[in-house]
Amino acid sequence: MSVQVVAAKMAEVELKDVPTGKDLPAESPVTPTSEGKNLPRNDPHEAGSAAAASPTAEPSAKAGEGGTGLLTPNPAKMPQASSMKRSDPQQNGGEAFVNRDGTVAEAPRMKKIQFADQKQEFNKRPSKIGRRSLSRSISQSSTDSYSSAASYTDSSDDETSPRDKQQKNSKGNGDFCIKNIKQADFGRREIEIAEQEMPALMALRKRAQGEKPLAGAKIVGCTHITAQTAVLMETLSALGAQCRWAACNIYSTQNEVAAALAEGGFSVFAWKGESEDDFWWCIDRCVNVEGWQPNMILDDGGDLTHWIYKKYPSMFKKIKGIVEESVTGVHRLYQLSKAGKLCVPAMNVNDSVTKQKFDNLYCCRESILDGLKRTTDVMFGGKQVVVCGYGEVGKGCCAALKAMGSIVYVTEIDPICALQACMDGFRLVKLTEVIRQVDIVITCTGNKNVVVRENLDRMKNGCIVCNMGHSNTEIDVSSLRTPELTWERVRSQVDHVIWPDGKRIVLLAEGRLLNLSCSTVPTFVLSITATTQALALIELYNAPEGRYKQDVYLLPKKMDEYVASLHLPTFDAHLTELSDEQAKYLGLNKNGPFKPNYYRY
Ligand code: NAD
Repeated sequence: MSVQVVAAKMAEVELKDVPTGKDLPAESPVTPTSEGKNLPRNDPHEAGSAAAASPTAEPSAKAGEGGTGLLTPNPAKMPQASSMKRSDPQQNGGEAFVNRDGTVAEAPRMKKIQFADQKQEFNKRPSKIGRRSLSRSISQSSTDSYSSAASYTDSSDDETSPRDKQQKNSKGNGDFCIKNIKQADFGRREIEIAEQEMPALMALRKRAQGEKPLAGAKIVGCTHITAQTAVLMETLSALGAQCRWAACNIYSTQNEVAAALAEGGFSVFAWKGESEDDFWWCIDRCVNVEGWQPNMILDDGGDLTHWIYKKYPSMFKKIKGIVEESVTGVHRLYQLSKAGKLCVPAMNVNDSVTKQKFDNLYCCRESILDGLKRTTDVMFGGKQVVVCGYGEVGKGCCAALKAMGSIVYVTEIDPICALQACMDGFRLVKLTEVIRQVDIVITCTGNKNVVVRENLDRMKNGCIVCNMGHSNTEIDVSSLRTPELTWERVRSQVDHVIWPDGKRIVLLAEGRLLNLSCSTVPTFVLSITATTQALALIELYNAPEGRYKQDVYLLPKKMDEYVASLHLPTFDAHLTELSDEQAKYLGLNKNGPFKPNYYRY
C-alpha cells in the first residue's frame, strides 16, 4: 500500500473521540497497605475516598471545557477508571495486577537494576579499551525495550569520538553530538521507509496541521535512536514540541538516523558504541543546557529520569509528567512512588494492552525466525525445537516455528498454559525428556536458570541455544565459563561452546534476548508503542491541574482502543459499529471502551 493510500485512509479515522485533554479520567494509581497488600489508593467503596473526588467520578463537571483541539475529547464517552490496577512490585521481585475483587495476578518478574555510578567525571574519559569494557556493564534499562536493531548503521573506520568532533548541520547549528552529520541523507531515507509502517503517527501529524496540542512542550527523551524514534520525534515536533534526545542503549543508535535528525534541527546526543561514560555525558548534554528546561520526560529504562533526580532535582518543578516505556523504567517509577519520592505524574505505557500484545506475541512471532536465521542460517523445516514457557512470547515463537514445519515441544509449569499448548497441538514435555534430541532450545519464561549446565551437557552436537525471555537469566551461561570448555566466537553474537569430546553447542547472544541482539523488530510493532507514547505525552501535558497526582498511571483502555483503531486503516479493515439496541443490550457506550479492564485479549 502506498504512503498516499495509507495517509488517505488515516484521514478517515475519527480523532474527535480520542480520550485526552481535560476530560480524560486518570487510571487510579495503587499503593501498598501496611499489611503489604496492594490495594487501589482510590478505593471506590470507601466513603469520601479519593475516588469519589476523582475525575472519573465527575465527568460531567468537565464537559465542554475544551480539550486539546486536535484530540477533542467527548466526555460522554469517557472510560471508567480501571478496575485492574498495577501494583508495586511484590517482595519476591515480581509485579502484580490487583483486580477489583482483590485477586492478584502476577506479572513476569524482573531484576532490580542499579543506577549507574553517579560519580561520573566527564573530563576523566576512559581509554578506548576502557570505554568498551565499561559499556558492557551498562544498566539493564538499555536492553529491556525494543529497537529495530541498528543493523544497517555504518561501522565507519573513523575512530574519533564524536565528543572530540565539532560538527554543524547545513544551517550552521551545532547543538548535537553524533557520529557523522554527512550521513544525514542516508538516514532520511531510513526515516521515510519507517514512516510507511507507522501510519498512526502520520495520521496524528495530518490532523495536527492546524492545531498543536504540544505547543510549548519541551520534551527531553532517552530512547533507542532509530528510524522509528525519528518518526516519533518528528511527529512530536509537528504537534508543537521541542525535543532534545539521548540514546537509552549504547549499541542501538542508527548513526545515519541521528545524523538526519541533527540535520533536521533536533538536538541529538547519541552514537552507536557509546561508552558508559559517553552514555551519561549524552544524557547530561540533553538536560544541562542554558536557556532551555524540559517540561516533559519521555524515558525508556528510567536512566534519564534518575539522572535528573540525582543531578537536577529542581527541574521537576517545571516538569509536568514522565512517560515511561520499559519494564525496568516502570519498576523504578513504582519504587520512587512507593518511597514517596515521585514528584510528578508518570504514565506507564509499558502495560498498555496493545503494546503488550504487540511486543510479546506478535513481535516475537516474527522476530524469532529473523534472529535465528540471521545468526545461524538454519532451516526450520523438520527441525525439533523445544520452547520453554507457553506465555505470550512462547506462543508467538511456537506459532512461527510450527508454521515453518518445525516439530515443536513445549515445557510449562502452569497447567493452564500447558493445556493451551496441548490444545494448540504441541507436545508438552519436561526439558530433560527431549534435551538429547532437539536441534534448537528457546527460553521464554521470564524465569531464571531454566536451562542449566546439566541440560547443556546433554544437548546434541550443533544444538542452537537462545533466549527470548528475560534479560540474560534464563540460560545459565556462567556455568559454561569453565576451563574444560572452549568458547569460539564464530560470528557476531554467535559463540560455539566446545566440550572436550568435540561436541559444540551454538549459543546466541550469550543468552541475552535473541531478537533484541540479533534481529530487527518490525516497525509496525514500534508504531504501536510510539503512538501510545505520543498520546500519553499529549494527555499528561494537557491534563488540567489535579487530574494526575504524583503517581504512576496506566493509560485508559479507551486510549488503547484508539491506538489500535489508528492502525486499522492500514489493513483496509472495516470495524463493525454497535447499534443503539446492541449497545444497550451489552451495557456499553457505542464508542467504547468495549471491554472491562480485566479482559484478557
Ligand atoms: P508470560 O508470563 O505470559 O509467559 C511466561 C510463561 O513461562 C508462563 O506461562 C510461565 O508459567 C512459564 N514458566 C515460568 N517458569 C517456567 C519454567 N521454569 N519452565 C517452563 N515454563 C515456565 O510472559 P511473556 O509475556 O511470555 O514474557 C516472557 C518473558 O519474555 C518476559 O521476561 C518478558 O519480559 C520477555 N519479553 C521478551 C520479548 C522479546 O522481544 N524477546 C518481548 C516481550 C517480553
